[in-house]
Amino acid sequence: MKYVVLVPDGCADEPVAVLGGRTPLEAAHLPHLQALAARSEVGRAAVIPDGLPPGSDVGNLAILGYDPDVFHTGRAPIEAAAMGVDLAPGEVAYRCNLVTIDEAGTMVDFAAGHLTSEQSHPIIAALDAELGGGRDGVRFYPGVEYRHLLVVPGAWAEAECVPPHDLTGRPAVWPTGPASTRLRTLMDASRAVVSRVAAEVDSTATQIWLWGQGTRPQLPDFANRYGVTGRLTSAVDLVRGLGVLAGIEVLDVPGASAGFDNDYVAQRMACIDSLADRDFFLLHVEATDEAGHQQNAAAKVEALEAWDRDIIGPLLDALPAFGDFRILLMPDHATPVELGTHTSDSVPYLLHDSASTVTGLPYTETATRDCPAVAAHTLLGRMVASA
Ligand SMILES: [Zn+2]
Repeated sequence: MKYVVLVPDGCADEPVAVLGGRTPLEAAHLPHLQALAARSEVGRAAVIPDGLPPGSDVGNLAILGYDPDVFHTGRAPIEAAAMGVDLAPGEVAYRCNLVTIDEAGTMVDFAAGHLTSEQSHPIIAALDAELGGGRDGVRFYPGVEYRHLLVVPGAWAEAECVPPHDLTGRPAVWPTGPASTRLRTLMDASRAVVSRVAAEVDSTATQIWLWGQGTRPQLPDFANRYGVTGRLTSAVDLVRGLGVLAGIEVLDVPGASAGFDNDYVAQRMACIDSLADRDFFLLHVEATDEAGHQQNAAAKVEALEAWDRDIIGPLLDALPAFGDFRILLMPDHATPVELGTHTSDSVPYLLHDSASTVTGLPYTETATRDCPAVAAHTLLGRMVASA
């Protein structure tokens, strides 16, 4: 039996005015997906438990079969795993953005003008030399563009931190809670270092912003838990980090990107190649989520049609050669284009068994609206359970 999980990030949506009141899933031409849905169990899944942030860290944890209420510790430790930074027990990772805050204290840009890694790495190196380097257990690690990592002792963990992208154009809301003084002291101290090096590399970054903290999540090994081994492809750090933490091999597929230029064909071919010697594969594409953030309904429809044409159709042609197979398809959360951000709403899921004769609903938000939402993290266990 082969098991394939397909994750169109953030694809679930709401009726969109420019699509004539249809959702992108309803407006897109998806012949392969809808034919598959007609032969599958189609329903609603609650991917984001109450009280947790509606992010790809939480949603993909649930898709991989780990209850986020039990296993989610924060977003930064998952990114740390993707970066190859191993957190010791008790250590806490924070996402460390380089941001632009003006003299009035307004969060002008959560990404500091989307500076390049070539610009940001000298800034992070200077921060580590002057404020980190392991002194008092504080270390800075360079990531990609504006997204970096801070590792600190466990005493720094207890704070409420606001993600900087939720503050755009508004007064910065500083951390609160027992560890907030430490965090504020470090963020204040970062200004002199960041502004000095930013001037040298021609960047608008003014300081660091710390958020998304957590200790290393203790994920039981995926192969032990589910009795299957496999691989995944994703261009997104959070999904790649979950693979590292769960013991799922993470592939580097040339052409896989987090943008609209993603190479869907390359990811599908990597999936089919991998199934030759492993039974499980997860294929994640970010473009649908990015279209939601950009409030670009046409791009979301195009990304869904690329899924249908370049992944689902050819995959369904190839899979029977391996024997029986099952497919789980669902997004990690909704990213409605008219909102431009994630929501915690339940999403449609599709669970297909090649040997089953079940008939299913159309794979759309409307068709599944009245289905009771099942806990998303239970679906993977159902998929790999023996028939
Ligand atoms: Zn997103």
